[in-house]
Parts: sequence; structure tokens; C-alpha cells
Amino acid sequence: MKITRIAYSTGLNPGKYAALLEQARRLGQVRGEVWQRYGSIAGVGSGLRDRQVRDRWLADGTHVRFGVLANAWKETVRDATADIAANLASAKVEVRRAISRRAGDPAERRRLLTALKADRWAGDPFLARQMRKHWKRGQNRTHDQIVVRADQHNTATDGRGQLWLAVPGLQRRQMVRIPLSTTVAPMGTLRLILRGGRVEVHYQTDASQMRSSQRPCGDRTIGVDKGYTEALTDSDSERHGVRLGELLTSESDRLKQRNRRRAKLRSIANSAAGRGDHAKARRITANNLGTVKRDRQAARHRARVRTEIFTAVHRVVDKAATVVAEDLTKTFAGRTTLGNNINRRLAAWTKGVTAEALTNVSERRGSALVHVNAAYTSQACHRCGGLGRRSGDRLHCTACGVVWQADVNAAINILQRAGDPDIALHTPHHVVRQILQDRTDRRRTRLPVQDSSPATAERRANHPNRSAMSN
Ligand SMILES: [Zn+2]
Repeated sequence: MKITRIAYSTGLNPGKYAALLEQARRLGQVRGEVWQRYGSIAGVGSGLRDRQVRDRWLADGTHVRFGVLANAWKETVRDATADIAANLASAKVEVRRAISRRAGDPAERRRLLTALKADRWAGDPFLARQMRKHWKRGQNRTHDQIVVRADQHNTATDGRGQLWLAVPGLQRRQMVRIPLSTTVAPMGTLRLILRGGRVEVHYQTDASQMRSSQRPCGDRTIGVDKGYTEALTDSDSERHGVRLGELLTSESDRLKQRNRRRAKLRSIANSAAGRGDHAKARRITANNLGTVKRDRQAARHRARVRTEIFTAVHRVVDKAATVVAEDLTKTFAGRTTLGNNINRRLAAWTKGVTAEALTNVSERRGSALVHVNAAYTSQACHRCGGLGRRSGDRLHCTACGVVWQADVNAAINILQRAGDPDIALHTPHHVVRQILQDRTDRRRTRLPVQDSSPATAERRANHPNRSAMSN
């Protein structure tokens, strides 16, 4: 399993940065050419490979006009072809949906899906129409990247312990040496991204090489509930990633303040421009409304949150051979529905990171991840199944009269869903509600004095997850 790592340049001299930027600009033209000529149904859509593109360019001399070294443009052609293929694949997802929406016999549906998968859709009128509809012709927007093949770069550490990465420049045998802010040498194919005077070196590393991947998983089955003040609460009532809430709140406050400040500056710049004071407007835009510092702060915050969430998942996997969780990728709300609400956007994003961490850590450490239907897990009492009343972080079950910690109760419910005979992953919401209702009704008729019997009260007192009635 591969994961992406990023190394950053430190104190790179502006002359070198400018040279790299020029190389990236020229490679952007290479990308543009690939998108322009092969970014359609006749190109990559018909199964064209990057190797064939390279051969054609070598034959007709296309490559000469870009003024970059052979390896640089060849790698870029490969990268751009892969981008187009990804673009095509996302269109196919839409077309697959259209196929399943179209009523018809299963054999016909299967035939369409097979043809689509094998890129034989041009001959079928329905598929061709759908592909034309969903595959919007894209264009290259990448002008700040350089892809460097594994055998084209090297690293060296100088006498002061500084790590230098050498990558090809625009002239043969003239490497550009980049000082890095890490001591871990990047390996394999590199993607250099040039942003705000700094070089980001993106590369893939095999997760099995990481120390955390060699840590064995536990041997139990644990249910987890995703929270907001903490990353995860498990069915043992343990909370993991407890600093998450604080991180999100401080980031949200910071963003709100910053946005207010920027809006004010923007209005000052606009009114200056309105008065004809364009120099002042330009000054404000250049000095106070830049994006370099903003982007760096955002990246730092993202890194902190990711560490908090990944550490939380590792803690759970320390105990678990099987982690039972809600499928967090299913409930993604689109960017448009979230609007400008900072808190909701942060929450949606952390949900995605939690989903990623659960999959990633499970795969690396060999634990199983089981997704269950999470409908009503935060409202139902895990003991009697009755729907309780939420009040803050407590859940009051009116049927058995106990107050639970809401997140712990949810984690236990999630754990129990893994073995639930009636509630499957895709059982609709209203059916789940009916099943829970039926169960409580049955229990009530069988155990009419459950709430007041001394035996129940004793069990309640001994239950580890019980919390005080008065809160
Ligand atoms: Zn109950």
C-alpha cells in the first residue's frame, strides 16, 4: 500500500526557484498540448497510451518546440495522459449511474456495463450519447509542476547535515540543487509543486516500510463512533483524539476573524480604486491579501488534524482485530450544500479524514474494518433499543430510565449492529426505526415490570457504561 509524503524546500535561492518555475511553465505547455490533442473521445478515450503519444511526437518533431529535456517532457506526457484517464473514469461513474437508472433487462444492462468498461462505447448510440453528455472536454490547468523520474534525481547530505535534492534543470547535465527541510530523502518518482517561492516535493512511499505499519493490531472487536470534540469514542467508553474539538474550534475562530479582516481590507482597496487611487489598491492586494501565508497556515492546520485523527485510529487498532464503524464516506455533503459555513465545512472534511484513516490504518496493520448501518445508533438505547431523548452529550432512555453517555452508547450500538440479524448495511432508515420499535414493544410485553424491578436496578448499577441520572 502506497501513501504520499511531502518534503519542503527551505531557504531556496530565488534564482533557482525562477529557473524551476520556467521549466514548470514550459511543461505546462506540454500538458496543454496533450489535453488539446488527446483529451477527447478520439484520443485517450479510444485507448491511446502515453507511449504512442511519445512515438508520434518523436516522429513529427512536436517535442522540439517546448525547449525542455527529453525525460522531462516524456514524464509529463505520461502524467497528463493519466490525468485525462482519471477525468474519463469519473465520467464513466456518471454513465454507470445512467445505465442502472435506465429500466431494462439485466442482460442488456450487463452488456452496456461491459462495453463501457472495455472502452467500446463509441459504437453504441446510448453509451456514446451518455459519454458525450458526461465527459466534458477538459483542459490543462497545471503550470506549476515538474514530474521527475526515479532515476533522474539524487540526494546528498552536506557537512552541516543539510539534505540537498538534485533535479534536472533546463540544460543537460546541469542539475538544480534544492535544500530540503527534512533528513528523509524522497524516493521514486517525484512531483515538484512550486508554490509561493517554495518547492513541495510529493512522493509515494510504501506504507509497510513505516514503523507504525509493523505494529500488530489487537485481538478484539471494537465499535467506534465519530465525534466532534474527540475523533473517536469506542465501545469500551474510551475516547481517542481528544484534542480534535479544540483544534477545530480554534481554526474556525481564526478563519472567521481572518475573513472579516480580509473583507474590510478588500472594501478599502475597492473604494481606493473607485477614487482612482489604483496604486493604493494594488498595494493592499499585494501586501495584505496574498495567499502564500494563508495557504501555509491552512496546510499546517490540516496536518495537525490528520495527526490527531490517525493517532486516534491507531489507538483503537492497538486493541482491535476488527473495527466496526459507520461508513463515513457515504454521508458526504457536497461543497455547495455546505456553503460558506466554516464549521460545517470543517466537520465534513474531518469526517473524510476519519474515513481515510480507518481504511488506511486497518489495511496497514492487518485489522478488518466492518461498515454497519448507523441509522438511529445515536438515538436508540443500546440496552432496550428504545428511542431516547438527547440532551447535550447525554441520552436519556425513557423506556428503561437510564442516562447514557451519548457517544459511548452510539459506539456500543454500532458494535452490536455488526451482528444484527435484521439490520443490514443498506436497510432503509424507516425500516430500521420499525425494527427497533418492534423490539422494544416485544420486550415491554414480556417484561412488564422491568423498569421498577430491584434486579434491573442492580444490573443497572453494575453496568460499566451507566452514568448518573442527575447531570
Ligand atoms: Zn433503554
